[in-house]
Amino acid sequence: MVAVSWCLCGKECRYDGTAKPDVQAMALAKEGALCICPEVLGGLPVPREPAEIVGGDGYDVLDGRARVITVSGRDVTTEYIAGAEEAFRLCCESGVTCALLKANSPSCGSGCIYDGSFTGGKKQGDGVTAALLKRNGIAVTTE
Ligand code: SF4
Repeated sequence: MVAVSWCLCGKECRYDGTAKPDVQAMALAKEGALCICPEVLGGLPVPREPAEIVGGDGYDVLDGRARVITVSGRDVTTEYIAGAEEAFRLCCESGVTCALLKANSPSCGSGCIYDGSFTGGKKQGDGVTAALLKRNGIAVTTE
């Protein structure tokens, strides 16, 4: 079973209320892939303030060494971790072994994420959900 970022499947669940439809993701969804939006699963609304990881990447957030902060300075680390844990729980329930997730996101990004400066800059690392999935043996790629 494959998991896919919900925004890549055409769901308007991004922070600004838009989707990022991707042909491959939409085809996987049509075939029954598990569609997940960790930020919504963590209780955040749509739309919501953009947030970035400050002081590290998703692994550092999971281990308490970095925080997820919105552009106005609100700490949403708890929601991001809750969303990652719920996404992982759903993946376990469905027997997910690999995931196609949205690039650069502080939740879904894999290999590269926004750098915490809200300037569009990027840094090496994984988002919080991507980190939790990888840590538990689920392969993660981006669109
Ligand atoms: S958390 Fe992931 S699925 Fe949800 S909007 Fe952000 S990138 Fe898309």
